[in-house]
Amino acid sequence: MAAIDGLPPLREVIKNHDLVAKKQLGQNFLLDLNLTSKIARCAGDLSGADVLEIGPGPGGLTRGLLAEGARHVVAVEKDPRAIPALMEIAAAYPGRLTVLQGDALELDVSAHLKGPVKIAANLPYNVGTELLVRWLSPETWPPFWSSLTLMFQREVAERIVAPVRSEHYGRLALLAQWRSDARIVMSLPPEAFTPAPKVHSAVVHLTRLETPRYPADARVLNRVTAMAFNQRRKMLRSSLKALTPGIEEVLESTGIAPTARAEEIGLEAFCALARAISERESRS
Ligand code: SAM
Repeated sequence: MAAIDGLPPLREVIKNHDLVAKKQLGQNFLLDLNLTSKIARCAGDLSGADVLEIGPGPGGLTRGLLAEGARHVVAVEKDPRAIPALMEIAAAYPGRLTVLQGDALELDVSAHLKGPVKIAANLPYNVGTELLVRWLSPETWPPFWSSLTLMFQREVAERIVAPVRSEHYGRLALLAQWRSDARIVMSLPPEAFTPAPKVHSAVVHLTRLETPRYPADARVLNRVTAMAFNQRRKMLRSSLKALTPGIEEVLESTGIAPTARAEEIGLEAFCALARAISERESRS
């Protein structure tokens, strides 16, 4: 297959730099540059944006993002073995790729980015979920990014976009849908990766909303949904008992049946409940 950018095929890059995949770093690489370009296109027009890429590995998605016209890519990779391979890409795209070595959970990259910022990543699932929650929960809103295009294992992707009363509905769906439009835009079988993981994967695209979908205090909403879903099979009058005295009355005042369970309550109703709790707390 002809390379999209005159650089060697990824299999060769991996061989040249001895990038044997490490399980503890969640390394399952995408080697098909047509596929990585397709994922890059899911992020929309990149020509006027800086892209923050987490976990570039040998650089398949990085090359896709650059070939699709990203103004500037800032790539954060934990594995020092991948840095020389990424520097070769930086040399082929002068001034358009900044490579940072470190743990994305610890590194502050803000100084390297100019807005608008789009985030793209194919990450191990635990790191990806942790970063997603952080990106959706900054102290102030709107956040520094305008969209997120992220690969997850299929089940996590379904938890992000899940509608109320569905199997995967829970706190992640509420958080994501409160602050963004979230859609699954691509599905990938295990064979798309080298080595192949055990599970299917999916790309989720999240576009931030300028203001959260319904008003609520983020910390109170978080507290309410944590309590409700920690005991998701219990009735809310029991799972939320410790939230405030007279919880049944508060639930009824917001139109929620005290006998309902967390998975039956939509985002709008959870926000109304969070507002009612905030109001009570400000009175007491
Ligand atoms: N993006 C490449 C691709 O699509 O082929 C690699 C994907 S691989 C699933 C995940 C990458 O994330 C690996 O290169 C791994 O070293 C890197 N990684 C894992 N944990 C990380 C962390 N905490 N911070 C930055 N990179 C990390």
